[in-house]
Amino acid sequence: MELIGSRYERRKTRQIVVGEGERAVLVGGDAPISVQSMTITKTADVEGTLQQIYALAAAGADIVRCTCNEEAAAEGLAAIVPRSPVPIVADIHHQYKMALAALDAGVQCLRLNPGNIRRPEHIKAVAEACKDRGVPIRIGVNAGSLDPDLYAKHGGATPEAMVESAQRELAFFDEVGFEDVKISVKASNVPLMVEAYRMLSEVTDHPLHLGVTEAGPLPGGLVKATAGISTLLMEGIGDTIRYSLTADPVEEAKAGRMLLEALGLRERKGIDLIACPSCGRAEVDVIKVANDALAAFGDREIPLQIAVMGCVVNGPGEARDADLGIAAGRQKGHLFIKGQNVAVVPEGEMVETLVRYAERIMEVGADVVLAEADLDKAKREADKDRAALLADQGADANNVAVKIDTIRRRVDG
Ligand code: SF4
Repeated sequence: MELIGSRYERRKTRQIVVGEGERAVLVGGDAPISVQSMTITKTADVEGTLQQIYALAAAGADIVRCTCNEEAAAEGLAAIVPRSPVPIVADIHHQYKMALAALDAGVQCLRLNPGNIRRPEHIKAVAEACKDRGVPIRIGVNAGSLDPDLYAKHGGATPEAMVESAQRELAFFDEVGFEDVKISVKASNVPLMVEAYRMLSEVTDHPLHLGVTEAGPLPGGLVKATAGISTLLMEGIGDTIRYSLTADPVEEAKAGRMLLEALGLRERKGIDLIACPSCGRAEVDVIKVANDALAAFGDREIPLQIAVMGCVVNGPGEARDADLGIAAGRQKGHLFIKGQNVAVVPEGEMVETLVRYAERIMEVGADVVLAEADLDKAKREADKDRAALLADQGADANNVAVKIDTIRRRVDG
């Protein structure tokens, strides 16, 4: 087993290729963990679907899935695939002929649900067609649509039942010599999903696609999906991920990308904004400044950690490891780089100053920006404001003595 990120060990899986040429995405082995999402447009609506695919790709999706539920959808895929910036997976339920039609359309991967395509001859016909064309398949087991036989045999959608469903499908594929497979065993119940993937990873080396299915709207869906996916990733399980949220799918792609960046499993593209939670010492509306900063940086490719801190008393110290940060104090913003004060600006200019300095760091590097700054002056001003705030507030930002006195007067009086 080899190290991934800086902390976790990733289980060895075989590698498959989704797509071809420059758009190919490797899944499994030592390939970066990829992010997937799914369009919610009608696939027959070629322009609308492509627009969504481009938005998903811009938000961080490496692979996008589209439903192929009718002939018009398959025809739509034929027009979508050549214009898509990322490989397209066709999502197939119930009708194996739609899988064959999606292959005719040129899709780069299929997702089959073994719970609702059950006739061996149909499964094998699709696997053979995929083998001929070099197109991989995801075996997408879902707890909610498990094969009724397995449900009855195991007394419910247990991890064992879900793993057996995937293994049954694999056995049909084996019969026709098809191995180009990734597998998912999703459930909306997080502990069930985690256990099913753990069990599956013990019995197969096919790459695993992680997800908590039907996780629901924000913020609960985000929490559930993150809980399930990150638990497994931290155990080294998982080669590709999808957040299934009841939200704009762009949120799914963003969340997937952010999770992998947060775990150190993918290189950062945009800023990592950290901000203090605010408290009685805050000299500014931290929530507003942090949100304004997020909006101002938008999708810019500035892979820096940037801190927004509510007070100059504790902010620069607490965020000293950030590449760049700003702390409020006495209607001013104290800008710091790696914990060193570099400039003081009016409070209203905090956000634009952050953006300006971030761009300068990207251009010339933090050392040059530090060399350009009047560090002594910035430090003197920060020390002065820090001292004044400490003198005003003391070490007690909650004015405990005054509050106790008020309480006593109310109760005793
Ligand atoms: Fe409170 Fe200042 Fe810490 Fe923010 S940085 S939580 S305002 S003490």
